[in-house]
Amino acid sequence: MKNIQQQLAALDAQQMRRFLREIESASGPRVQFGGRDYLLLCSNNYLGLADHPQLIEASCRATRDFGTGSGASRLVCGSLSLHHRLEEALAHFKGSESALLFNSGYAANTGILQALYGPDDLIFSDVLNHASIIDGCRLSGARVLVYAHNNLAALEELLEQEKPRRRGRWLIVSDGVFSMDGDLAPLPGLVALKERYDAWLMIDDAHGGGVLGAGGRGTAEHFGCLDKIDLHMGTFGKALGSYGAYLAASRAVTDLLINRARSFIYSTSLPPGVAAANLAALKLVDSPTGAHLRAQLESHRRLFAGRLSAAGLNLCGSQTQIVPILTVNPEPTMQAAAALLDHGIFISGIRPPTVPSGTCRLRATLMASHDPQDILAAADTIIALLASGGAR
Ligand SMILES: *Cc1c(COP(=O)(O)O)cnc(C)c1O
Repeated sequence: MKNIQQQLAALDAQQMRRFLREIESASGPRVQFGGRDYLLLCSNNYLGLADHPQLIEASCRATRDFGTGSGASRLVCGSLSLHHRLEEALAHFKGSESALLFNSGYAANTGILQALYGPDDLIFSDVLNHASIIDGCRLSGARVLVYAHNNLAALEELLEQEKPRRRGRWLIVSDGVFSMDGDLAPLPGLVALKERYDAWLMIDDAHGGGVLGAGGRGTAEHFGCLDKIDLHMGTFGKALGSYGAYLAASRAVTDLLINRARSFIYSTSLPPGVAAANLAALKLVDSPTGAHLRAQLESHRRLFAGRLSAAGLNLCGSQTQIVPILTVNPEPTMQAAAALLDHGIFISGIRPPTVPSGTCRLRATLMASHDPQDILAAADTIIALLASGGAR
């Protein structure tokens, strides 16, 4: 094993070293850093709720009334009435029997999979699933079979192949909206397979919640199969503009998680201000304002993706507000991201290990709060840069 300095030098040499950027303003359509103003095209604040007055007010009021910290984990004395109200609201929103909060999406996926599955069980996982699902699978100790991205035939082949020697329980797990490609999991097909093979289906809807479906209930609402998802995970950090995550599931599942999920048990619960902002976000998403914001976001997506694909750029099959622009290798990707910054446009370049080698991309994300003129101008700048060979 190389020492720490050698590892950093190796990352530098491959254009693979990552750095933190210090942002000096809210995650709005425009941000400030380094003394300059930029069009922000890489935030997951899709509906513009992260700086919405109703969330800010709810958060301030709860902080004044209940303080800044919950004081303990849920099982000790940190299970506040705000958490319980939020869980009831979530179960109602998702149409599930029960819901359980986690401190982040990462904590949810690792905790859920670790708690519910073990060495006798088998997990079928999409190759492009989020890192937190991969880590949860590892923690569970279950055997994991990875299937080709969104490939129902490949998944069915694996299910069929395993059938004769089945032991334990089976789980199919997938992102609802894939975080780096912006495409949708084929939920109706996954539901059919999970029913045919007596498996459970877990969907991580970090990027679909709040955005997809007429009521913002996510990818499953979009496909009309909300009641078919056994383990329905979602987060508050993206479209819902706050922080934290949840699982909507049966009461038996959430009761077991309270007893077994280590990331739930051994961690201080969400602060009152965050739980209150989450409640306000749910209410907004489930209102005419939410529907209006979703329509705006979809209109922005059409403008932006339409112009880029008309210019012949490869958008990796995006169907949502996540619009990746394929740039293949690390060096041109980082050059393009730097050139865009010079033009006042902030889009992050994505490299391995976040995406497979040879599929580096600029990952643009849209917000309902963007100005359509800004989005079109940014698309034109991207097209000019990539066409001029500035990035290839
Ligand atoms: C962002 C994300 C997570 C992690 O959620 P956090 O609340 O940010 O920890 C999990 N799954 C997917 C698909 C995500 O995109």
